[in-house]
Parts: sequence; C-alpha cells; structure tokens
Amino acid sequence: MDCVFCKIAAGEIPADILYQDEKMTAFRDINPVAPTHLLIVPKKHIPYLSQLSEAEASLIGDMVNTANQLAKREGISESGYRLVINCGEQGGQLVPHLHIHLIGGRQLSDALG
Ligand code: 5GP
Ligand code: ZN
Repeated sequence: MDCVFCKIAAGEIPADILYQDEKMTAFRDINPVAPTHLLIVPKKHIPYLSQLSEAEASLIGDMVNTANQLAKREGISESGYRLVINCGEQGGQLVPHLHIHLIGGRQLSDALG
C-alpha cells in the first residue's frame, strides 16, 4: 500500500521510532512544530477518524495511554501538552492514515483553528 505511515510501521521508510507494539507505532514528526512533536499511529490502515468503527474505538484509548507514557518520557507530563487528531480536508489532515499528534515542550497558542 502506498501509505507513508504504513511504510514507517513496516520499516520500509526510516523514522525515529520511540514505541511500537502490536497495535501501534510512535515516532517523531519529520517537521516538528514544537520541541516534542510525536505521532502515534495505529498499525491498521484506517484512513480517517470518521471511518473508525465502534468496535475499533478502544484503539484510541490505547493510543492516548501511549501518548501519556511518551509525554512522561519526554519530560512534558507536568508542563503540559496537546493531543490532536485531524480528520479530512477541512480538518487539516494531510496524511490519510489515522494518527494522534503529541505536541509540547513550549507554550502552545490557545488558538484551535
Ligand atoms: P496531518 O496534517 O495529516 O494531521 O499530519 C501529518 C504529519 O505527518 C505532519 O505533521 C508531517 O510533518 C508528518 N509527516 C509526513 N510525512 C512524514 C514522514 O515521512 N515521516 C515522519 N516522521 N513524519 C511525516
Ligand atoms: Zn497506512
């Protein structure tokens, strides 16, 4: 499949991988917007959040758990951070494979859109 995040999970494209299990891969964003900018990506190719089935919804909880663990490892658990899921064109999603952004390490703007 011609998907950059599937290729990273398969080891076909290099990435700075920080965590991996049977459900997900987490790695540093190639174009970080803050000192910590990680992506948490399910192994399953689900293009858009809007396509997540009810049966798959617990996957998001697992990904949030990983994000919280990684925030601790990055030393931003206390200072704070932001999780973002973009969905679709107007949601600003550029890579059509579901992912959570974990962003922190500086004061973030209070603008959300
Ligand atoms: P989106 O706009 O789809 O929510 O975010 C996609 C993110 O993926 C962007 O922040 C972009 O910098 C990141 N990205 C795109 N291609 C690559 C890549 O090949 N490697 C890594 N590590 N990040 C990527
Ligand atoms: Zn994919």
